[in-house]
Order: sequence, then C-alpha cells, then structure tokens
Amino acid sequence: MPLRTDLGLSHPPEWPPNATTAHPFHGGETTAHERIKHLVQSGNMSTYKDSRNGMLGTDFSTKLSAWLALGSITARQIHAYLLDFEEGTTALGKGAQGYGKGENRGTAALRFELLWRDYMRLCTRKFRPRLFRIEGFRNDDSYPWTSPSKNAAAKETLMRFLEGRTGTGLIDASMRELYLTGYTSNRARQNVASFLAKRLGMDWRIGAEWYECMLTDYDLSNNWGNWQYNAGVGNDPRGEARVFNPIKQSFDYDPEGKYIRNWVQELRQLNDPQAIFQAWKVPEAQRKSLGLGGLQWVERPLKRIEFHGGQNSGSGGRGNRRGGRNSRGQDGHINGAGRRGDGASREKGRGERRRGEREIRSMDEIEGFNMLKID
Ligand SMILES: Cc1cc2nc3c(=O)[nH]c(=O)nc-3n(C[C@H](O)[C@H](O)[C@H](O)COP(=O)(O)OP(=O)(O)OC[C@H]3O[C@@H](n4cnc5c(N)ncnc54)[C@H](O)[C@@H]3O)c2cc1C
Repeated sequence: MPLRTDLGLSHPPEWPPNATTAHPFHGGETTAHERIKHLVQSGNMSTYKDSRNGMLGTDFSTKLSAWLALGSITARQIHAYLLDFEEGTTALGKGAQGYGKGENRGTAALRFELLWRDYMRLCTRKFRPRLFRIEGFRNDDSYPWTSPSKNAAAKETLMRFLEGRTGTGLIDASMRELYLTGYTSNRARQNVASFLAKRLGMDWRIGAEWYECMLTDYDLSNNWGNWQYNAGVGNDPRGEARVFNPIKQSFDYDPEGKYIRNWVQELRQLNDPQAIFQAWKVPEAQRKSLGLGGLQWVERPLKRIEFHGGQNSGSGGRGNRRGGRNSRGQDGHINGAGRRGDGASREKGRGERRRGEREIRSMDEIEGFNMLKID
C-alpha cells in the first residue's frame, strides 16, 4: 500500500498513472516461503546473477530482504532451499533451469549476496557505534560534509534530493519509488548514496536516516554499512575513488529510460535517453511543448553530469552487464575523484573506468577485508 504522509516534504511524490511496484510485499513467514518457492519453481534462482541489477519488475532480484529484515525467514533457510534444488532432493523446481545440477551461477551469486549480509553484521559487531559516526569505520574526518543546518541552500538541496527533484533521472526515479513503495533496487540505492555523499557532499547519515524511515526492508547493519561504503568512509578499499556516474549507470542498466519514466511521469513523453537521464538537455524551445516548461529541476538541476556515452560508447545498451565489475561487484564507478567538491568539475579530471576486472569468488579475496581492526 502506498505511503500517504508527506513527512514534511513540500513536493511529496505522487503515484504516476499505471506505475507498478517492484515490491508488492505481504509480511509473514508463510508468504516468505511462498516467495522462495516461486523463485525456485520459476527458475529465477538460476538466472539471478544476470538479472539482479535490474530495476523494474518483481523478479529481477529475490525481494527477500524485507522478510529477512523482519525475521520471517533466515539466510540458512534460503540456503537449504537452494541446496534441495541443486541436488534435486525434492520435487520443488523440477523442470526449472538448473534443477539437480549442483550450484550454478545464479545460486552461487545469491549465496554471495547473503554473505554480504552476514559481513555487514560482522562489521556492526566489530565497530559498534562507529556504524553511525560521520567518520565511519575508517575514522576518516577529512571530508568537509555539508548539512541542511548549515545554510538555506543546503536545506533546499536536501529537500529536492528527498523529493526526487534533483534533475538527474535515475536519482529522482529511485527517490520517488522509495517514497511511494518503500523499496528501490540495489543498483538504484548505490547510485543514490553515491550521489548524495559524493556529488552533493551532504552528510551521508541523512540519507541513511531517510532510508531507515522509508525502507520496508530496513535493516540496521545492511543500511548503515552500505551507506558508509558508498560514502567512502566504510570498509571499501577504494574509498573516495568509488563514484558512481548515474548517467553511465542509466545507459548500462536502463538504456531506454523505462525505469526512470515509470516513476518520473514528467519524462514519459521523451525518447532520447540523454534527455531522460538529464532533462536539462532538452532544448529550451521544446520544453514547453513537452510539459517541462518552468520546472525547477529541469532548468536548474542540482548537478550537470557529463557523460558522452550511450549505444556507441561500448558501455551502454545493455540492461544487465556481466563484465566490468570491480571487487565489490559494482559497476560504473569512475576512478580518481578528489575529496568533495563540485561534481561537474571533478568529472573533468576523471575518465578511467575499470573494466574486465576479475570477479571475486569468496569473501577472503576481498582486498581490505581484514584491514580494519577493532580499536
Ligand atoms: C545505500 C544502501 C542501503 C541499503 N539498505 C538496506 C537495508 O536497509 N536493508 C537491506 O536488507 N538491504 C539494504 N541494502 C542492500 C541491498 O540493496 C538490498 O538488500 C536489496 O536491494 C534488497 O532487494 P532483494 O532482496 O531483491 O536483493 P537480492 O539482490 O535478491 O539479494 C538477496 C539478499 O542478499 C542480501 N543483500 C543483497 N545485497 C546486499 C548488500 N549490498 N549488502 C548486504 N546484503 C545484501 C539481502 O539480504 C538480500 O535480500 C542497501 C544497499 C545500499 C547500497
């Protein structure tokens, strides 16, 4: 059911016509088990690795997070279902791709994500209150974070971010989806966190708190640990160098802008991906006829992000990439960003994209996994 309260927003997002949620959640243990059975029977467990970076639809990822967070199921129970399927010990999933054929790319990838969940718990136990500190696990106090209490401009920036009116399509779609449904995909979450912390330079904890209020699957360790990670103060060995470019990410994961147009109704008339991803690119003379005239987030986006990619760049045109993943299994970050500052100017100094890196197979291979010691 959509959330109705405005939570202090002056422009609360409204449900766009015909938009459907990716997360039609019904709580409880029974529905949790039904969901796992559906994933096994439909073969989605076996294709999970290739679909997990999607953003639209109910089955691109498992959507098990809320049941896990609420204690309706456990990671061990999911593992047991996977084992039965892989070994063909029950009839569940008979006929589905991968039945009785041992661990496959999909089931291995799901276990891998569940290990990240465990790891986030380990970090909480290890670092305790540092989970919530602005300096993060790294104790890094070198970032000149801004916050809405500092000045009126920062407050307005934050409100526009929360309301999904930044002018960056992927961020706006995700923030509106989150507000309306209580869910947004992992791919979108990473981009949103990176945008708030690394492009706007805003105290990342405000984003984490907003997620805490909004997410149906809110989970203390996963949420705060992932926010730290994306803000560059957590246990990511790449730290500040990991900056997601939401335009490149849109080309990679939403090349036709279907996800963005689902949640940002104002952009539905557009066809050019560059314009969907950043509506300020629509020529001024055409804005009025497209219903975009006078919109603040079109005329004054919070960030203008340069990315001359797309179908011919070698990086776009595919909804779910398999190559080019880094050690955290995330794509589209750009090397060499400096400490805070204007995203557009920092953008100029970058350009090197890491590609074709080998994908890690176990937690032990993660660089820096053990580098942070308890004080
Ligand atoms: C900024 C940010 C905030 C997040 N906040 C939360 C949160 O409050 N609660 C939450 O459960 N997850 C959180 N995540 C992790 C991840 O985005 C969600 O678990 C996932 O999107 C839930 O959808 P799913 O169950 O379909 O995921 P699937 O892709 O199907 O993954 C299966 C399960 O693996 C676990 N998992 C997947 N990705 C991660 C991850 N990056 N870290 C830890 N565990 C993971 C989850 O338990 C998930 O249910 C956050 C990620 C980011 C980047």
